[in-house]
Amino acid sequence: TVKAGVVAVQGDVSEHADAIRRAAANHGREAEVVEIREAGAVPSCDLLLLPGGESTAISRLLSREGIDEEIRAFAESGKPVLATCAGLIVASRDAKDDRVETLDVLDVSVDRNAFGRQKDSFEAPLDVTGLDEPFPAVFIRAPAIDAVGDDVAVLAEWDDRPVAVRDGNVVGTSFHPELTADSRIHDLAFFAEPGASA
Ligand code: GLN
Repeated sequence: TVKAGVVAVQGDVSEHADAIRRAAANHGREAEVVEIREAGAVPSCDLLLLPGGESTAISRLLSREGIDEEIRAFAESGKPVLATCAGLIVASRDAKDDRVETLDVLDVSVDRNAFGRQKDSFEAPLDVTGLDEPFPAVFIRAPAIDAVGDDVAVLAEWDDRPVAVRDGNVVGTSFHPELTADSRIHDLAFFAEPGASA
């Protein structure tokens, strides 16, 4: 059984838990999902998910509870991390917003709410490196990635901007991969052999 931590201080949790279970099942494995609300639970997890929500609130709660340091240590240990939307903002090196204390586990800088007012929410078929068919990506007041470090691979772009990246064991997406029945992003981040195509 894989112990899957889902950060649950704020934002959507149950859809991610379902997606992780489906992705694990595709590999003949079972996932036990642990909702992370306080310090102490992260270190024993095998993989970690930082969901979307509101990045200023998530950031504040993570540091208040002392979970921020545990996530940094987890990411540095090389275990797989998936950070989506607001989670990507929090995981980044720089969010250009004083209210977000970034964890700096993913070497990108982001622009919050970058996809424009009339496009606040939309779904797009996204070509993602490693996936054979386009992924149905749901963007909700999504951040854009505006700079990526040398070791960061861009896995997908939308509107000429990176929206899915991999920095070693840490994968980040601007969009919400948990809102459709398609769990290939969770699979790619957590269970696929590095370099293999799903
Ligand atoms: N706009 C939110 C933020 O900046 C992110 C939105 C989301 O996670 N869907 O924190």
